[in-house]
Amino acid sequence: MAKINIIQAAQAVMPSRQLSSSGDPTSVIRSVIVVVGGIVLLLGLLGGYVRFRQNLANEYQNVAEATAYTAARFDHELDLRRQNIDNLVDAATELLSGRYGLNLQAAEHLRFSPGKDGYTLGAVPGFAPSELGLLTGEGPAPAPNSWAAREVAMVIGLTPLFRGMKHRERDLPWVYYTSAKHFIYVYPRPDGETGAHYAYPKDADHRAYYADALVGPNPERQAIWTPIYDDGSGKGKVVTLSKPVYQQDQLRGMMSLDVSVQTLLNGLHVKDVPYSTVHLIDANGRDMLQPQEPVLPVGLVLDPSGKPVRIGDAVYTAVPLKAANWFLVAKSDRQAIVWTAIKATSLLVGAIAVLALSIMLLGLLTHAMRRMRTMVIRDGLTQLFNRRHFDETARREFASCRRTGQQLGLAIIDIDFFKKYNDHYGHANGDKVLRRVAQVLQDTLRRATDGVYRVGGEEFAVLTYLDDPEQMPALMTSLCEAVRALAIEHVQSQWQQVTISVGATVVGATHPLELDAAYREADEALYLAKNGGRNCYQMAATVVGDGATAILVGR
Ligand code: GH3
Ligand code: MG
Ligand code: MG
Repeated sequence: MAKINIIQAAQAVMPSRQLSSSGDPTSVIRSVIVVVGGIVLLLGLLGGYVRFRQNLANEYQNVAEATAYTAARFDHELDLRRQNIDNLVDAATELLSGRYGLNLQAAEHLRFSPGKDGYTLGAVPGFAPSELGLLTGEGPAPAPNSWAAREVAMVIGLTPLFRGMKHRERDLPWVYYTSAKHFIYVYPRPDGETGAHYAYPKDADHRAYYADALVGPNPERQAIWTPIYDDGSGKGKVVTLSKPVYQQDQLRGMMSLDVSVQTLLNGLHVKDVPYSTVHLIDANGRDMLQPQEPVLPVGLVLDPSGKPVRIGDAVYTAVPLKAANWFLVAKSDRQAIVWTAIKATSLLVGAIAVLALSIMLLGLLTHAMRRMRTMVIRDGLTQLFNRRHFDETARREFASCRRTGQQLGLAIIDIDFFKKYNDHYGHANGDKVLRRVAQVLQDTLRRATDGVYRVGGEEFAVLTYLDDPEQMPALMTSLCEAVRALAIEHVQSQWQQVTISVGATVVGATHPLELDAAYREADEALYLAKNGGRNCYQMAATVVGDGATAILVGR
């Protein structure tokens, strides 16, 4: 290597500038943004699902609460009737016990009218006939001082209470007392035609209102409700509440009161339970208002905590009533509930989805912009920076070097006998060589401050910051050697392999060239290298000093 007459340049170590764009941050940003968008979307969907479950639970809670509230109101309605019957039975028991001066005299004045199989009660002193109920009995009329006569006196004594109840509740169809002594007293007095239905029935013992309230099925002597049935005298659907009247352990009879189903329904505010139809279910699961409905497995739908239970497409909320052995069951439309929950969640999920998609779109946009930028500054064949980028970067760096005094090496590289290579091996193989040479140049110039550009067909340029111009020959030697090391066969070359020639110059504070002038110098040096036999490098005369003797040729 010949001696180099070094241009003394500013020796201050300047911060290196990045000439290449390796490690593009946009790809990282894009990945981060897409990942963040994905996470937001995932979290959003997860959050949306959790919110949906909450909304669903809230809707079920609404149904459960509305059902419980409706049941409580209904229970109250039933309880009022139960209190009525309790009061009547208490009063009857008191009267029968004689403690409240049962007017037994009245019994002596009773005038029974014998009929074919029994008797009816005629006029009673002190009562207008319209104020009394209808009393009919089986067999011979009760003898004065008999228990039957005391019971007759008792019901007559209770008649003002009956009247008061009837007065308070117009829908109350009937109040009646059925004596174990085979008479029945019905208030208000049925007219002649309907009265026939209320004559003492021979099978009274087997009637539901009687039999279910007896001591066997009813050891507690509670008030017992019958199922719903059609009133015999055309007062519509009714249900009977009955409570046995005991005198100590002696069953005396049954106090009963009929309640119109319509009146019960008025207390059952079915519309208050959303998504639902409300059903009154007896202990056997039968729908009391719609007996044709299939039997409901009460045990299955009855959740101890009052929560809705799903069976098939319906959701049941069953609440046991306190005043009767019945259940109020809301049968809810599950789809409607789910739909409401979805609607309540959709805004949140929609907003999150829009946010996530926006974030992802931003990521994709960043990527697209990066690709566009790449396409503008990169060469499609070798992926090196292109001529345009070289012009921009080099002009900027040259200006900066003139300002700062930093030294910048410029090398122009040309593949030797490349036309012959193309002619011999074909253009496609020529392209492969271009790619391999481009790659090896880049691999050799590893520093972040080095930039490799494809500036022509088979011409490349290198820009590199130098601490010392003497570094340049070493760099060019390594470039030539790297290409030789590829050992790409080239039979048309005197070297039998693909080689390059390099011309270079160094600019700095004492040699402050413009880009175009520096390029010309490097190009002239390249020309000299070609003329000098190729497969070598040549420094510009301005760098190596005085004239031809100082020209540096490396091989
Ligand atoms: P020298 O040693 O003097 O440089 O001879 P050379 O044949 O390499 O020089 P010349 O400039 O005469 O030929 C350059 C050739 O490079 C011409 C063209 O066929 C080829 N070339 C230019 N661009 C491409 C390319 O993109 N792909 C291929 N395969 N060949 C290219
Ligand atoms: Mg050329
Ligand atoms: Mg060439």
